[in-house]
Amino acid sequence: MAKWVYRFGGGTAEGRAADSALLGGKGANLAEMAALGLPVPPGMTIVTDVCGWYYGNGKTLPDDLRKQVLDGLAAMEEETGRTFGGDTRPLLLSVRSGARASMPGMMDTVLNLGLNDETVQALGHDAGDARFAWDTYRRFIQMYADVVMGVDHEIFEEILEDEKAQCGHEYDTEMSAVEWQHVVSRYKEMIEEEFGEVFPQDPHEQLWKAIGAVFASWMNPRAVTFRTLHNIPAEWGTAVSVQAMVFGNLGSTSATGVAFTRNPSTGEKSLYGEFLVNAQGEDVVAGIRTPQSITEEGRIATGGEKPSMEKLMPEAFAEFKAVCTTLEAHFRDMQDIEFTVERGKLFMLQTRNGKRTTRAAMKIAVDMVDEGVITHEDAICRIEPPSLDQLLHPTIDPKVQRRVIGSGLPASPGAASGEIVFSSEEAIAAEAEGRKVILVRTETSPEDIHGMHAAEGVLTTRGGMTSHAAVVARGMGIPCVVGAGSIRVDARNDKLLGVGGVVLKRGDIITLDGSAGQVLAGVVPMIQPELSGDFGRLMEWADKCRRMDVRTNADTPQDARAARAFGAEGIGLCRTEHMFFEGERIHVMREMILAEDEAGRRAALDKLLPMQRSDFIELFSIMSGLPVTIRLLDPPLHEFLPKTEAEIADVAEAMGMEPGFLARRIDAIHEFNPMMGHRGCRLAISYPEIAEMQARAIFEAADAAAAETGAPVALEIMVPLVGLRAELDYVKGVIDRVAASVAEETGNATAYLAGTMIELPRAALRAHVIAETAEFFSFGTNDLTQTTFGISRDDAATFIPTYQRKGIIEHDPFVSLDFEGVGELIQLAAERGRRTRSDLKLGICGEHGGDPASISFCEDAGLDYVSCSPFRVPIARLAAAQAAIRVRAST
Ligand code: ADP
Ligand code: MG
Ligand code: MG
Repeated sequence: MAKWVYRFGGGTAEGRAADSALLGGKGANLAEMAALGLPVPPGMTIVTDVCGWYYGNGKTLPDDLRKQVLDGLAAMEEETGRTFGGDTRPLLLSVRSGARASMPGMMDTVLNLGLNDETVQALGHDAGDARFAWDTYRRFIQMYADVVMGVDHEIFEEILEDEKAQCGHEYDTEMSAVEWQHVVSRYKEMIEEEFGEVFPQDPHEQLWKAIGAVFASWMNPRAVTFRTLHNIPAEWGTAVSVQAMVFGNLGSTSATGVAFTRNPSTGEKSLYGEFLVNAQGEDVVAGIRTPQSITEEGRIATGGEKPSMEKLMPEAFAEFKAVCTTLEAHFRDMQDIEFTVERGKLFMLQTRNGKRTTRAAMKIAVDMVDEGVITHEDAICRIEPPSLDQLLHPTIDPKVQRRVIGSGLPASPGAASGEIVFSSEEAIAAEAEGRKVILVRTETSPEDIHGMHAAEGVLTTRGGMTSHAAVVARGMGIPCVVGAGSIRVDARNDKLLGVGGVVLKRGDIITLDGSAGQVLAGVVPMIQPELSGDFGRLMEWADKCRRMDVRTNADTPQDARAARAFGAEGIGLCRTEHMFFEGERIHVMREMILAEDEAGRRAALDKLLPMQRSDFIELFSIMSGLPVTIRLLDPPLHEFLPKTEAEIADVAEAMGMEPGFLARRIDAIHEFNPMMGHRGCRLAISYPEIAEMQARAIFEAADAAAAETGAPVALEIMVPLVGLRAELDYVKGVIDRVAASVAEETGNATAYLAGTMIELPRAALRAHVIAETAEFFSFGTNDLTQTTFGISRDDAATFIPTYQRKGIIEHDPFVSLDFEGVGELIQLAAERGRRTRSDLKLGICGEHGGDPASISFCEDAGLDYVSCSPFRVPIARLAAAQAAIRVRAST
């Protein structure tokens, strides 16, 4: 018989934290906490396999599940001394969803199950508090009708608001037993009217239907969207935990709350959380009442007026704090915790590794190393390399005068500007048009995740640090300000009313400072972030762990400087063509291209030489002593020529040429497929004087820069688009001759390597032969992907998305390396090349050099370095370290 149910409670549990695939994250950690002897209400978890069974069998549950659940229920009854459906001391249940990966708020949970017209009396009698019992019953009807029967919860809200108004109450907590009882009868009447059926009174029927509904919530649209966004497979399924209820709504000595063991925004080591007295379940996150800080420190920091839990319930707080310490030490990570206090007694309802900003992740990882809790390698592996991007983003320049139009809580750090939009649909539409927007809402719900993704930042006027908007924005790494009560949103009239009578319309620009919790009018100057502190330390550890070097693709001094600040260890690709576009140079370049003979070309090249030489001197100086790979001219020449008739006329005039003549010359070098045409080393073979000039500029610059910085340039000259060894031999011959004559002229010989890009399948296949000449290979994976697939990368966008939609291909191979095809060529070329020349230097310089998955592949292929754009250098450093750690762990 299949084991569908795992029990927990009373100091023991079946299953542990490691069983999250089977028990879901929530169920597994409830088991772990119970086994640790922490105060967890007893319960049982129905395994995720049942979810698969449910969908595979027409949304039914396996027959033998019933007995196992009833057995579990009996154990819970024994443990609690209560009876499910009993007319004295009734046992109430929560029926909770929980998948392997955390999907906060995406699926359903039903609380207070087991109540009916009889048990509500028993509950009130037992607690000595009828008000509590009726409050709990109305909560149950509301939730059950919403989750199981599909009744719109707003209908209940309306009835509740109406009753409160009639009784003259502002808060739910002011309602009396009789008033709640009245609400309950109105709820039940409404359900009968709308559904023609009475609210189910049989607790067992309630339980089965609730279990089914929670499994069904696995496929609700927001859960499906969330899984798509986070690459969570549908096959995983959810588990369902059935647990004894404890009550935070049992008067003023009861409460419910959520907490992080460290600050999830800054990473600071201090307990951080919010709670509500006399409340239950989702009241804290729903923003009905403003939650109170758990700690005094937190209360003071947020300027809260209501007392902290620390003050109000010192004993429960002390116990909670101790539990937090235990949990953090046990899981060796920051925990996100849900708890309830029932008449002064603490109960733990959930724990999981907390979501955090990248800054917090960094600080927590570094602090935990200092605390001796985790190793350097653990710390490195805890940071998602792409998330570093968040730290590399701008913040508001501290020197600017801020025009603050409102403030709230600093929910997610960083700064962003954009046009005001009031709905997720507008945000999505604006993103499609390439406009930057700030999503402004009273609060967000899981339906808004798409809109939040599309926005640069999110602003809400309600909610706390654990509200939906705050949690989701932190996860996405976008700036967010929540609970900005001083701002009023008048979405119906497309207006936002700020402090001091400021009125802004939809489409007006605002700036969010997610670190300060401020909303500013207009665009505000920003500055680049500091790369020292925790970031610096973690990157230093990563640098010690990795085997591969990280270089950058840089063509300009500006890129080169930025890359060095980000830790680049040299230039893996300097594209020289970029040097021919600026100002004066393009004219001289055109002269060269349009010249009718070698003499004409040489005259123009003589003018280009000093320009190119000075560029190289600057690059070499910035990189002083680090390797610099310079690629000879690569693109087809027509790219430098004018295209439209008007441009041709302008250029002809500037060059003192007849427009018709110019047009004919352009025509003459027109190619049908320039990407596969007269480019790369083919140019150097047709016009060796171009390669000669470039080589001369390079060697003369290397000599000058070495004299200037005192560090000899580690020079690598790279010949593009080689398919035949003879091509490389020819061009290398030119380079060697120029090197010799410059050495003779200056009296200094600059050491250099000559190598090639591997960007044609033929080059990869003939790598062992090409390596007889080449001293290094650099995999140009943009072109190699293009030539391996035979897909023009400039035209790929017209059909790759269709391919992805139809499941023909999973990833765009121009974004994430195609390991199977292009990857095999890389492995094969690396092997064959090294067979000929064991010290052959190997690197990658395509876009893929900054993609963590591709970097991991490069580690396995034994490359010496990866090279990527400057902003991706830190990401590559971390990804390379993680890859090295992975390889070491597996050997
Ligand atoms: P979610 O995954 O949406 O957080 P949960 O299953 O954690 O859903 O339930 C949400 C909230 O319901 C919990 O944070 C807790 O406050 C409340 N809750 C769940 N189970 C119980 C229980 N056994 N007793 C009291 N409250 C509970
Ligand atoms: Mg929860
Ligand atoms: Mg190329």
